[in-house]
Amino acid sequence: MQRYDYLIVGAGLFGCVFAHEATKAGKTCLVIDKRPHVGGNVYCENVGGVNVHKYGAHIFHTNDKQIWDYVNQFAEFNNYVNSPVSISKGKLYNLPFNMNTFYQLWGTKTPEEAKAIIEKQILENGVKNPKNLEEQALSLIGKDVYKTLIKEYTEKQWGMKATELPAFIIKRLPVRYTFDNNYFNDKYQGIPIGGYNKIIDGLLEGIETKTNVDFFKNKEELSKLASKVVYTGKIDEFYNYKFGNLEYRSLRFENTRLEKENHQGNAVVNYNDGNIPYTRIIEHKHFEFGKQKHTVITKEFPEQWTKEKEAYYPINNEDNQNKYQQYKVLSLGEDNIIFGGRLAEYKYYDMHQIIASALQKAKKELNQ
Ligand code: FAD
Repeated sequence: MQRYDYLIVGAGLFGCVFAHEATKAGKTCLVIDKRPHVGGNVYCENVGGVNVHKYGAHIFHTNDKQIWDYVNQFAEFNNYVNSPVSISKGKLYNLPFNMNTFYQLWGTKTPEEAKAIIEKQILENGVKNPKNLEEQALSLIGKDVYKTLIKEYTEKQWGMKATELPAFIIKRLPVRYTFDNNYFNDKYQGIPIGGYNKIIDGLLEGIETKTNVDFFKNKEELSKLASKVVYTGKIDEFYNYKFGNLEYRSLRFENTRLEKENHQGNAVVNYNDGNIPYTRIIEHKHFEFGKQKHTVITKEFPEQWTKEKEAYYPINNEDNQNKYQQYKVLSLGEDNIIFGGRLAEYKYYDMHQIIASALQKAKKELNQ
């Protein structure tokens, strides 16, 4: 018997925004998630008052006032500005590449001095049509920045040599000739006070939600509960991997509670060197200017993905894109299933983009 207008598979940001909009429009929704909690990858775990970003550090940023106002309905945001630092061969550098980084690398104090070095190195390198990530980076920024802050980090992240990685992974490199360590260029940025769960709870207020429910364990029965299904899980899984599985890069997080106030003085510290197996250490309390007596740090280890592991970053090579297109064709033929979110679209989305996408799909579906 159909008891709901929509069965929403996945309580990540996409599913929650869709459920919220549908409920506002007078529709009934049941939201299910196979994890023991709602929120998908933005879920935070409270460790003695510190909000730990369980599935990787999440910093909200957008240029879109509408999206900013939308999230601010559910939580107030603090004025956190992401200013990561990177450690390479024992020395510390500011990111993104800016006048501070160039001073740390070469002692240059003016934009002209820094620009002259970068342009000279790009010319010396002489790459015209970059064929791989290494050539691309060298043609954009020169050898010093590449070797000190890009090469080993990227190789760890993708588990491949920079010369084997496609050039398109780096389209642009953010280079600033100002002393500005703000990682993002967006107008709005911050962390929700009280963590991302506050936004998720606000979105799901008054909506029936069930956790620890895997859609595929009971697909027929669950689908019968609603007129339509909003599916935010993996698209290849939905079609039982009939064209083969889409590949991802995975991550492993190692959390440690330390009985001291401040471990590294910054929320995000990258580790560039190849002999260190993690890419960064996150100290979560600094996202919220925490004053607790303890701290929680997370080491982030990139890992090869298998079906049992969490799927984090799509591997956007030709083979996977071809497979995805085949799945997409099938999905376009479905009348009562709406596909959305990063896993169903096999695409990396930032949070503001996923919210915009869910709002757009909800608007279309609800004829608003
Ligand atoms: P998800 O959050 O993955 O939600 C999908 C949900 O579906 C999951 O909860 C899953 O359990 C559930 N599900 C899947 N299959 C089933 C099934 N069969 N049955 C039931 N439930 C199912 N964005 C930013 O803007 N800023 C950042 O700093 C940032 N940092 C990031 C860091 C990392 C390491 C990663 C990987 C992403 C980051 N993002 C960031 C992106 C952000 O996480 C995504 O935009 C957002 O979480 C996507 O939401 P979603 O609903 O599409 O997917």
